Amino acid sequence: MVKRNPNMAKLQSSYLFPEIARRKNEFLAKNPGAKIISLGIGDTTQPITPHIMKGLSGEVSRLGTKKGYTGYGAEQGLKELRDKIAEKMYDGLIEGDEVFVSDGAKPDTARLQVLFGSNATIAVQDPSYPVYVDSSVILGQTGSYNQEKSQFDGIEYMECTPENNFFPDLRKARRTDIIFFCNPNNPTGAAVNAKQLRELVNFARKNNSIIVYDSAYSQFISDKNLPRSIYEIDGAKEVAIEISSFSKPIGFTGVRLGWTVIPNELKFEDGTSVNKDWNRIMTTLFNGASNIAQQGALSALDEKGMKEMKQTISYYLENAGIIRASMEKLGYEVYGGVHAPYLWVRIPGKTSWQAFEEFLGKAHLVTIPGIGFGPSGEGFLRLSALGHREEVKEAVKRIERLMK
Ligand code: PLP
Repeated sequence: MVKRNPNMAKLQSSYLFPEIARRKNEFLAKNPGAKIISLGIGDTTQPITPHIMKGLSGEVSRLGTKKGYTGYGAEQGLKELRDKIAEKMYDGLIEGDEVFVSDGAKPDTARLQVLFGSNATIAVQDPSYPVYVDSSVILGQTGSYNQEKSQFDGIEYMECTPENNFFPDLRKARRTDIIFFCNPNNPTGAAVNAKQLRELVNFARKNNSIIVYDSAYSQFISDKNLPRSIYEIDGAKEVAIEISSFSKPIGFTGVRLGWTVIPNELKFEDGTSVNKDWNRIMTTLFNGASNIAQQGALSALDEKGMKEMKQTISYYLENAGIIRASMEKLGYEVYGGVHAPYLWVRIPGKTSWQAFEEFLGKAHLVTIPGIGFGPSGEGFLRLSALGHREEVKEAVKRIERLMK
């Protein structure tokens, strides 16, 4: 028999979302016919918009012709798309050859962990998107799970709570090789200002760390004065990788397309180029993003596509506004939902799994318990605004009834 990878056994309670699905199914088995609305998993619901669809379907048709057929593409992505991402998403702050197009930000996170290797030490915001911690566990970068603290030994959890405006106290943070930093944040919905981001970049420069900046929600930032990319900060190119995604802004969660930026300036301790090593990883572990998806993205980045992207984002942010206004009226302490499609709600006097069970049992609503994102998430629920408008309105009515 083959020995199981011992790191797999360290992972906690499978993964947050399967556990939520299990509890939901258990509830449905006991309450058949209950009409559950999900304010849970951050999947998109709105159809892909017409101009972006043209990009996708045009490529599908071309693939069926002798002249238009293409097979494997460049592992780094279409040059035209890499240049367009640099121009449209980064205003020329980076070059096309620093952009690597991929099948999404989550798989890129996993491949980055392979790049860093088992000896790398990591820091995460607490709470944070669970993939950073779980991929670190799988790679063997951590010690065992500390039940008492609800965290893994060896990982630096940087507390981000309403009390510190969701920005970690970096004076208290231990130096690590890698700092995962998600902005706007999943799950809290918080977005940092330029001063805070500068502080983070300076912290990484001082410590010779690499920041992995996850900007999967950057297009949701509604205030022009807030930074969207980490490269807006001077000196970031020597210390930061940015991963990002077409999933949320244009509904490509199922189509699959994202990218990673590795600046040419970024070097490992021995002077080797991180960009070169990443190229080696991508040419070895990845065979290039779907040509159909890439043509869809090219359409998304032209004038009409950008307009459609804005409309899609506005729809979700309006949903967030509806949930936020109602929850605030009911007296809840609500964060996020302005620069991100997530709301972070404090539920006083309850653990987050108790709050989850109450919302499910009494209002037939699926939410995400904050503890699933890290120990500082205890006592909070994450609500997603990525649903259909009618369902969001119905969910809000149910919450209002629950409070009566
Ligand atoms: N990063 C964050 C912070 C996310 O919330 C998500 C998806 O929910 C992803 C990455 C995954 O992106 P992708 O669909 O491109 O893999």
